[in-house]
Amino acid sequence: MTRRTASLIEGDGIGPEIAAATVRAVEAAGGQVTWERVDAGAAAVAKYGDPLPAATLESIKQHQIALKSPLATPSGGGYRSVNVTLRQHFDLYANVRPVQTIPGVPSRFTGVDLVIVRENTEDLYAGVEHYVDPRRTAAESIAIITKFGSERICVYAFEYARRHGRKKVTLVHKANILKMSNGLFLDTGREVAKRYPEIAFDDMIVDATAMKLVTAPERFDVIVTMNLFGDILSDLTAGLVGGLGVAPAANIGDGGCAIFEAVHGTAPDIAGKGIANPTGLMLSAAMLLDHIDQRDAATRLRRGVHAALGDASTRTGDLGGSANTARYTDAVIAAMG
Ligand code: NAD
Repeated sequence: MTRRTASLIEGDGIGPEIAAATVRAVEAAGGQVTWERVDAGAAAVAKYGDPLPAATLESIKQHQIALKSPLATPSGGGYRSVNVTLRQHFDLYANVRPVQTIPGVPSRFTGVDLVIVRENTEDLYAGVEHYVDPRRTAAESIAIITKFGSERICVYAFEYARRHGRKKVTLVHKANILKMSNGLFLDTGREVAKRYPEIAFDDMIVDATAMKLVTAPERFDVIVTMNLFGDILSDLTAGLVGGLGVAPAANIGDGGCAIFEAVHGTAPDIAGKGIANPTGLMLSAAMLLDHIDQRDAATRLRRGVHAALGDASTRTGDLGGSANTARYTDAVIAAMG
């Protein structure tokens, strides 16, 4: 197995705590990864006066893979989201969020097994915003949808479905109201679907999707959607299986560049207390190990996580348990087998 170097952004808030736990767990699972620690977010502002230093970009460019803990983003004013900038800089157009019921994790639903493929670079996140008048009493944000962006994300979703033995792709949109931008996305998806006759295809309006996800989540397999809807629906689906603390994500571009991250934020309310749940980052690290073909280590890591989550005495507080981060991580490692 080839040892790979990956950039590691330890992040803000609970970031350093969950990153340390994840590095331990990857090592114990047999992952052959050397971590190159680089700064971003509030920690980088404090050190270098820059939320995304050139050395960080250079490290990711060189190694092509990164594991990233959450970064604080100031609301309203302040610097632009580093998460968004990173995705755009490396053109990581596919945000992939698998959502699966984990036995033992308290949740309202069972049997959920779906994947959200979210377009990551366009839509309202293109950063095209301005105040309409000098007194700043009105503002406009422009959603940009292109045929190029729509086609590559839909192709990614179908290719993902094919690779992972998934049976259906559902395209989520609001083309009944946003006839041009969302209509373009829908029309492009319909064209792409014709190239994959073995995979079922349907489309659904986003509001109906939100309702269906909480009444019959088992009807979904792969969901492909635009940036804003994907952002919202992926948090919703994380809630179906026990919350943000357990949800992993990957941001993937063409040519193998990928950044893996937990879906949750910096959890400032519990930062520094040693009680954060590192599952989201650990499962993101498992996706990283799959991506670099270290599948046995990925499987061992997932086995440890699922076993530790299955035992109430080793779960963290956000999942109703009483274990702290260190005790949970010990249990993950002990259960790897
Ligand atoms: P959050 O996800 O940080 O916290 C929401 C709630 O969930 C809090 O009660 C928190 O304690 C809890 N929680 C989250 N992750 C947890 C974990 N691993 N273990 C235990 N409990 C956990 O969301 P927020 O409060 O809206 O955002 C805080 C900051 O994080 C903001 O600056 C926001 O911009 C940033 N953020 C970053 C990312 C990212 O870097 N990908 C994602 C979302 C939010």
